Amino acid sequence: MDKRNIYADNAATTRVSDSVLNAMMPYFQQNFANPSGLYSPATASAKAVRQARADIAKYLGTENGEVFFTSCGTEADNWAIKSAVELTGKRRIITSRLEHHAVLKTCEYLKSKGFEITYLPCPENGIIEPEELKKAIGNDVAIVSVMLANNEIGTIQKVSEMAEICHGYGVLMHTDAVQAVGNIPVDFKALGVDMLSLSGHKIHAPKGIGALVVRKGLNLPPFIHGGKQELGRRAGTENVPYIMGLRQAISDATTGIEERSEYVLCLRERLVDGLLKIEMTRLNGDRADRLPGNANISFYGIEGESLALLLDMKGICVSSGSACTTGETEPSHVLKAIGLSDEWAKGALRITLSEDNTIEDVDYIVEMITEIVGKLRASSTLWKRTIG
Ligand SMILES: *Cc1c(COP(=O)(O)O)cnc(C)c1O
Repeated sequence: MDKRNIYADNAATTRVSDSVLNAMMPYFQQNFANPSGLYSPATASAKAVRQARADIAKYLGTENGEVFFTSCGTEADNWAIKSAVELTGKRRIITSRLEHHAVLKTCEYLKSKGFEITYLPCPENGIIEPEELKKAIGNDVAIVSVMLANNEIGTIQKVSEMAEICHGYGVLMHTDAVQAVGNIPVDFKALGVDMLSLSGHKIHAPKGIGALVVRKGLNLPPFIHGGKQELGRRAGTENVPYIMGLRQAISDATTGIEERSEYVLCLRERLVDGLLKIEMTRLNGDRADRLPGNANISFYGIEGESLALLLDMKGICVSSGSACTTGETEPSHVLKAIGLSDEWAKGALRITLSEDNTIEDVDYIVEMITEIVGKLRASSTLWKRTIG
């Protein structure tokens, strides 16, 4: 069979869409003026940024919130947590071990500065029980940060219930919604959170633009000091083209979301059904309460890396479920958090589909994985020891 070219790693990043690219182009060479200038082209830039801020707020149901542009999702997560401890003066943070490193490493840094971190336990289905937050919370807590949708296993957390618990204690609630925006409906007001992070490159805008949505009245301390940009909270000349791209991406992502996610869900179900036919295979994370495009599957007895590399040779881009640092394969912290053994965690593969994928893509992925898993198992000592 011919080598194909199938991109199925949309949780890592997405292709910039034509509509986003078109929305950005005029702001590189024609309307390039610095929004802080006094002349009319500058006023036009400032107006474009103001309009983008208002539109994004509207798309995300944010009558009670304000949009602050950042350089990425990671920055938004850092800002939310660091500002909450500064704002409240409190010394404890509640989060979960399912979080993205942008949250986890920020918390570890604060721990090194003397803050206390409480991790909410998570059951095997990858969905934290709000009851656990009730047990852990107290008025010594600065902020609770729990992601809306997980980037590895796609599970969706009960964030609005958690926000309600937080507010009973006067505690701030932040959610990392980077994976959620564009894949499931996201309504800032309905979620009831104080802060929400998002990122452009997961929703067909370019890498290097994100936003922190902040509840009105919450006076965040400035995160980057300098000029008066972003209402004096985050200095640095606005990235006008990328802000316009983000505006377009969120507009696209929030229109027709139901039909799009229904289509992607059909593909995902076909993929999961096909892959679970392979023996000693499991789907990681709840099958229903997860992002429509996310399939995270473990194949016992093999390494996810080897599988991903061999799939690349067949023209399929997917991610292994593990984080590879300095050549050492570490089982994913998320899979460990939901209780997988090292053997199962190491055999994980993450396939994240988008509306650009087709049924043919899915069938080809299933065919290739079935073939490669068989070959890898034939030479796996772990497989032979336990099964053979
Ligand atoms: C990608 C991602 C981030 C980081 O966003 P960047 O814009 O790449 O910094 C944070 N959280 C989650 C859940 C993500 O998937």
